[in-house]
Amino acid sequence: MSTLILHGLAAAPGVAIGPALVYQPAEASPAPTPSTATFSVAQEQVRLAKALAQADASLVEHEARLRQANKAEEADIFAAHRMLLHDPSLREMIDQAITEHSLPAPDAVLLAANAQAELLEEIGDDYLRARAVDLRDVARLLERALTGTKSLGEQLSEPALIVARDLGPSDLMSVAQERLLGIVLAGGGLTAHSSILARGLGIPAVVGLGETLLHNVATGTMLALDGAAGQVYVAPNETELATLRAQATALREQEATLREAVSLPTVTSDGHAIALVANASTVAEASAAHAWGAAGIGLLRTELLFLERTTLPDETEQLALYAAIAAELPGLPITVRTLDVGGDKHLPAFPLPHEDNPFLGWRGLRIGLSEPDLLLPQLRALLRAGANAVMRIMLPMVSTVSEVHQARVLLDRAQRELDAEGLAYARQVELGVMIEVPSAALTADALAREVDFFSIGTNDLTQYTLACDRGNQRVAALYQPLHPSVLQLIALTCTAAHRHGRHVAVCGELGGDPKATALLIGLGVDELSCSPGSIPHVRAAIRATNYATAQVMARQALEAPDAAAVKSLLEAGAAS
Ligand code: PEP
Ligand code: MG
Repeated sequence: MSTLILHGLAAAPGVAIGPALVYQPAEASPAPTPSTATFSVAQEQVRLAKALAQADASLVEHEARLRQANKAEEADIFAAHRMLLHDPSLREMIDQAITEHSLPAPDAVLLAANAQAELLEEIGDDYLRARAVDLRDVARLLERALTGTKSLGEQLSEPALIVARDLGPSDLMSVAQERLLGIVLAGGGLTAHSSILARGLGIPAVVGLGETLLHNVATGTMLALDGAAGQVYVAPNETELATLRAQATALREQEATLREAVSLPTVTSDGHAIALVANASTVAEASAAHAWGAAGIGLLRTELLFLERTTLPDETEQLALYAAIAAELPGLPITVRTLDVGGDKHLPAFPLPHEDNPFLGWRGLRIGLSEPDLLLPQLRALLRAGANAVMRIMLPMVSTVSEVHQARVLLDRAQRELDAEGLAYARQVELGVMIEVPSAALTADALAREVDFFSIGTNDLTQYTLACDRGNQRVAALYQPLHPSVLQLIALTCTAAHRHGRHVAVCGELGGDPKATALLIGLGVDELSCSPGSIPHVRAAIRATNYATAQVMARQALEAPDAAAVKSLLEAGAAS
């Protein structure tokens, strides 16, 4: 019988082999029964207060443990969980369930958290869905503190791979790391906190495998997980195990070599220099970028700095945030993208009206220009941060030259205001645009006269060029960043930019794919920006590229009929 191989999302790289432990945490009962005679509201409230203190202490401990291990981003997750635990609206709902419905505290906790999580899930946004997982995780922690039931860590007495529908950060942190071989989830996404933690702690993980996982795996089933490929082998045979073991050894060796190479220059074998910078959305990522030898930040997604809050930060707070990011990479350029909400990005602090086509609607710079109260404080904060750091301002979702003119008017206004107020700011800050919309690529020549640099957002450029929603699984096969139409637009952008002495970066996911590095260099891209973890891989790919050969390959790719033909060219290039 052939082995069942499940395909999911590659959440954290690495190979893990071992038995499964299927984890089924407590869930809210759909109709909890009110307590009877012995029930005392006062007693339940005392129980709840004690459990809150106990749960808080365990979150504080997780946070401290991670900070001590220099894992700031992972530690921040638990700081955010403490906010969830003490959220007044959650507390109010729990109290109501106890006092008005006579529910025992554990049921009240699960019910209240479930109701709030369902509200978040209904919005249909990936980020909010991930926060719903966090909320349920906090509720389980509280429920365990109330009932004394076993945590995941207490259930895991032998090394195993955890199999679950979803896993929260507290579940994960309750496990001694040496016993946690890998994580296999039916649900979850790459931005879920359990995925972030798994990557940070170096635990291989595959998520988003669907219900098939839970139907085919029981506690004790032997599993082999390939985190980089996003594959899980259920009851693998000896040949598959041998291949995966060899892969694990090769991965460990490769990792060691990449770590040794962090300070090697990012030049091709024939001496063509490429700037290798990082995408970041938190101070912790900026710090990781520095550790991997990034030459700066190529894309700071500012909207992600504002996610965990219900009000937008004012100018002073933004200034502090940008300064904190810049402090991680002293003297290096920090390219900050102005707020890019809309499409699939929603901020609790800036709720958007419903639209039938949000990706074609009020999004990115369009919002900033029509809501100067949003963009102006950000421009002012960026200009002020530029007084002590090399800041570059980048505008998202630009479709026309006139939008750049309007943004310049706001930038001038910000400068005049700062002058009038006698505040220090950068007078020479570079202004650039993202090339994410075909109209921008096709008029790159006109745009290049107006700005200092371009950064190609291949994630959006692909979706708008192929008319293919980047988040819609049904059309996922059409979403092809290597399609020759996208490559034509990249080439056009580079030619126009260079004609005017401007540089071009790629900051979409394609910029972090080492298989595409030679092609992008051949097309004329000057800078690659990718997640900190991809930096060493892209560095190795740049150093393995020959610029002259890459240019020939790029010309062939531009003439290819489809993405499959481009992939074949890349494979042939890699093999030669
Ligand atoms: C892109 O579109 O390629 C990009 C980098 O922006 P985002 O993924 O944030 O939309
Ligand atoms: Mg984009």
